[in-house]
Amino acid sequence: MPRADQPGSGSVVIAGGGFAGLYTALALAGRPSPPPILLIEPGERFLFLPLLYELLSGELHPWEIAPRYDALLAGRGVAWLQDRVERIDTSSRTLLTRRGRTLPYGRLVLATGAGENRFGIPGADSHALGFRSLADVDRLRQLVERLKREPRPLQRLVVVGGGPTGVELACKLADLLTGAAGVEVIEQGPTLLPDGKAFSRDQAQRALQRRDVRVRTGTRVLAVDTDGVKLGRPGSSAEAAMERLGAAGVIWTAGLAFHPPTILPEPARDPVGRLLCDATLALPGDGGVFVAGDLARPSAPTGSDDPAAVLPANAQVAFQQAPLLADNLLRSLAGEPLAPFRWQDLGEMMSLGRGDACLTAGGLTLAGPLAFRLRRLAYLARMPGLNQQLRAAAGWLAEAWPSASTPPPPHG
Ligand SMILES: Cc1cc2nc3c(=O)[nH]c(=O)nc-3n(C[C@H](O)[C@H](O)[C@H](O)COP(=O)(O)OP(=O)(O)OC[C@H]3O[C@@H](n4cnc5c(N)ncnc54)[C@H](O)[C@@H]3O)c2cc1C
Repeated sequence: MPRADQPGSGSVVIAGGGFAGLYTALALAGRPSPPPILLIEPGERFLFLPLLYELLSGELHPWEIAPRYDALLAGRGVAWLQDRVERIDTSSRTLLTRRGRTLPYGRLVLATGAGENRFGIPGADSHALGFRSLADVDRLRQLVERLKREPRPLQRLVVVGGGPTGVELACKLADLLTGAAGVEVIEQGPTLLPDGKAFSRDQAQRALQRRDVRVRTGTRVLAVDTDGVKLGRPGSSAEAAMERLGAAGVIWTAGLAFHPPTILPEPARDPVGRLLCDATLALPGDGGVFVAGDLARPSAPTGSDDPAAVLPANAQVAFQQAPLLADNLLRSLAGEPLAPFRWQDLGEMMSLGRGDACLTAGGLTLAGPLAFRLRRLAYLARMPGLNQQLRAAAGWLAEAWPSASTPPPPHG
């Protein structure tokens, strides 16, 4: 295997082209005299996940929220390898990809994100749909169309998980179904949006009520099959406490699982599987590895108010980590001290159905159509690359003034 002091020792390899990986690559490439940067990502398109609900509802198009990596990275100083990192040997600073390539790296960023967690619940893998990919959106849209084509009395969709994804998805589904089926949200905790802000929780509850979405909290899904779900109360295994709920479809949004590449020697993880790194996002040891995004569990910076605080798994964290990490990669290559990451909570935004949203930011709270537009604008500003921002903006303007212009061609 090649060693770090041979070609590649000054290079930065980034595994995972999601929010943390892609934005770190772009931030690093934008610095004066950047090192060679290689992004390894198996997918063909970057997926702007916070706007996936608008893709489902047809309010946005795939080219707006899922640009191709080759188009995004053209001329940006980032090489893209469409492959998956399988194994990392930090002592030789090399990695192995699924297609059998062995590559050396100088510094490596692990940003492989999180996957779904179905907690081993019987039938959940085979009978529940997910909501994380373009293929998931296609499947769900087909299901909605079928239910609208063939309405039956009392048919319903069950959304498992009362976090932001479950709530936002339930609102969009209710709007899309226009009464052809009911929507029910199942949450095992005592409340929806347990980590959300009080305003968001309140607005979410109202939005769900307006759409007749039934919410069951304190309820666990025990099994999923072709006809629905079996429910129970957390902590109770008595058959009497169980209930069957028929459903034409079950969509799983609860829980995250972490499956990073194999790393040798094996690093420490937290109880849910995230990699423990220090406040600078570096993995302990001298393997030249950094972690970012959902996969990272950094320790709090020295002097921080709450040293035990855990960062939320959201795009805002990944987005904020990217410029700090780009600087730390350069500092690390130059042998300089690294800076700690400090998370700044900038508020939260939620999509609450077609043309509806709520947001909290800097003491401001807003709900309704204006919040919907501001949310879009905020995400527009975070789209990767000016080109993608301009193309999406042109599409959204064309939609606001249909006769004035037409959307840009959907290439890329
Ligand atoms: C439906 C949905 C809606 C969301 N809405 C919001 C929202 O409104 N606001 C918000 O802040 N957050 C939201 N989130 C959360 C947010 O999207 C994530 O926190 C964010 O994407 C994390 O970024 P990441 O780079 O760590 O992981 P990801 O964005 O998941 O990217 C990981 C990437 O790594 C790649 N990968 C995986 N394994 C390998 C491997 N072995 N080698 C190479 N590449 C690999 C994957 O293909 C993927 O592209 C939402 C998430 C979902 C699923």
